[in-house]
Amino acid sequence: MSLRAYNSKRKFEGTPEPQGKVGQAGRDLIFVVQRHHASNLHYDFRLELGGTLKSWAVPKGPSMNPKDKRLAIAVEDHPVDYATFAGDIPAGNYGAGHVDVWDHGAYEPIGENGDVISTTEFAKHLDEGSIKFRLNGKLLKGDFALVHIKKDKKTWLLIKHKDEYATAEDYDSETYAKKSSLAYTAARNNERGLKKQDTGNHPPKR
Ligand code: MN
Repeated sequence: MSLRAYNSKRKFEGTPEPQGKVGQAGRDLIFVVQRHHASNLHYDFRLELGGTLKSWAVPKGPSMNPKDKRLAIAVEDHPVDYATFAGDIPAGNYGAGHVDVWDHGAYEPIGENGDVISTTEFAKHLDEGSIKFRLNGKLLKGDFALVHIKKDKKTWLLIKHKDEYATAEDYDSETYAKKSSLAYTAARNNERGLKKQDTGNHPPKR
């Protein structure tokens, strides 16, 4: 796992984001989901593996409803320290905008039958383009899959498995966004003279 791409995209004198160093795991593996309003609003889904955070940009955000297949675009590995990053990336820098931690917690890599597997095996599944994992976050819980769907190596789908945590209701990650995040987005939309930006997410029907 290399952080070369992460470091090369950023000028660390211009952004409060952490500089990339490969870390060591001697504890539970972590995951984090960051809500990132950059040029476009998206959610960054990150899983710790091999001392870095494997990362995907999920335009609509994750869902707890197994019927949703959320597009997830693989992006560069991020340093483990990035998991606690929240704040503003100044204009002119890579990914300029606002970042908030939307959810975080521990995760376990699992195999086809739901048994916990080694990180070595998990890394192999990742290379093969199909991983399963069990999340223990505040919002995201239970089993999920990330499946590579194209030869370009970048296009994946993030899918909730049917389990006791899954919901059959419409799921909109914006419902659970921090007030500060929503305020940032509202202010930016106002600046552009928009009353409301359609993110493609729609509030649950009641
Ligand atoms: Mn991002």
